[in-house]
Amino acid sequence: MNDVLPGEIGRWHRVEAAFRSSMGRLGYREVRTPYLEPTGLFVRTIGEATDVVEKEMYSFVFHDEPLTLRPEGTAGAARAYVEHKIHNVEPVSRWFYLGPMFRGERPAKGRYRQFNQVGAECFGDPGPGCDAEMIDALVGFLVEIGIPKPDVFINSIGNAETRERYKQALVKALEPKKETLSADSQRRLVTNPLRILDSKHPADKAAIEGAPTVLDFLSDEDRAHWDGLRRHLDALGTAYTVDPKLVRGLDYYGRTLFEIKGAYDKLGAGSTLVGGGRYDGMVEELGGPKVPAIGFAAGLERLLIASDLQVPTSVVDVLIAPLGERAVDAALVLGRDLRRADVRCEVDTRNASIKAQLRRANSLGARFAIIVGDREIDEGIVELKDLANRTQERVARADVVPRILARSAHGVVSAEVESAASQAEANADVSLSAPDAGDP
Ligand code: AMP
Repeated sequence: MNDVLPGEIGRWHRVEAAFRSSMGRLGYREVRTPYLEPTGLFVRTIGEATDVVEKEMYSFVFHDEPLTLRPEGTAGAARAYVEHKIHNVEPVSRWFYLGPMFRGERPAKGRYRQFNQVGAECFGDPGPGCDAEMIDALVGFLVEIGIPKPDVFINSIGNAETRERYKQALVKALEPKKETLSADSQRRLVTNPLRILDSKHPADKAAIEGAPTVLDFLSDEDRAHWDGLRRHLDALGTAYTVDPKLVRGLDYYGRTLFEIKGAYDKLGAGSTLVGGGRYDGMVEELGGPKVPAIGFAAGLERLLIASDLQVPTSVVDVLIAPLGERAVDAALVLGRDLRRADVRCEVDTRNASIKAQLRRANSLGARFAIIVGDREIDEGIVELKDLANRTQERVARADVVPRILARSAHGVVSAEVESAASQAEANADVSLSAPDAGDP
């Protein structure tokens, strides 16, 4: 589990804002579900013989009630969908979420025990157009947050009967090679044979070479959906690779599966940025009607490692440097006046030297420093230093706020502010009073 310190939070806010805005443009609205759910919810949906349920859940019993810290977001969203009978309200529901998930995995780069996911679920639309649009929008989002060349991998694992027939064929093909399989996969041959396909173990990889692929087992309906998905992606111009070994770790999926990878130099080849797929049976499994659904989740920590995005590091626009006790009174009032005009401002009340205060202004990325001492108070003025232009002027106290507002809007901008602004322009809006600026 890791801490996100204020110096890093600007990038988090920017990626979260880009996600919200990207999903909002697609007609998705945010849902917030509890971090704790009944353990049975995850066992039923994710599946008993999966790594998440077998090994990774933080589960405990509280007053006889088995509870689990959510390891992913889909089960909770589907539970909420059923519990609030949303299918009665609207035929299609498009929901997104952001928040922490918990899995007791072995920590590694980009893998944590409390991590954050952004994700979305679309309930009620069975068509492959929905799948293709989701994948295409995700690619757009990744590019927007500075992950330039995401690779999309897709597969179809068909409906439940298709998977059953395929499982039998797979077991039949692997049974003679059982002795060569890893211990985990020997066990999976009985419990969850599909999972052998995404084993990283070299012995397993060799054994599944030449095994039948699930795409050869698709029913006519599955195939129509699969063909539709690829046709729609082609129409959108979204590049993809078909990976018939893509099965993913959770049991609830059927038909479309996809993963998006990228930034291999930063994350390594095996690291998935986004995983998703169809889970047409889950709403019914949870006691609702037969409602098709598709969703995805992306690890925010991984997106942030992968992203080239830089955000402006300015914490405040103005630092007020009072010299002496009396000046602190004047500085506090001026600071409040500036904030009322939506200018971000820190008053340095440490009683430090002017040199230390100006150093503080620099390290906060402030554009202006305002120096107030006894003499200035007596004369009804302040010294206004424009740290970007390296100019200094005496400004009447009554004119300070309008002067700063005018200068910020029209003044010459420093190299740092300029490069930050053009960077932000490429990604999102940045205002002088952007609340998401991190520490320098
Ligand atoms: P999953 O819910 O397993 O399909 O994972 C979806 C995405 O969540 C993955 O592609 C990762 O980006 C992210 N993810 C999953 N597990 C972790 C973890 N332990 N730490 C960080 N990110 C994770």
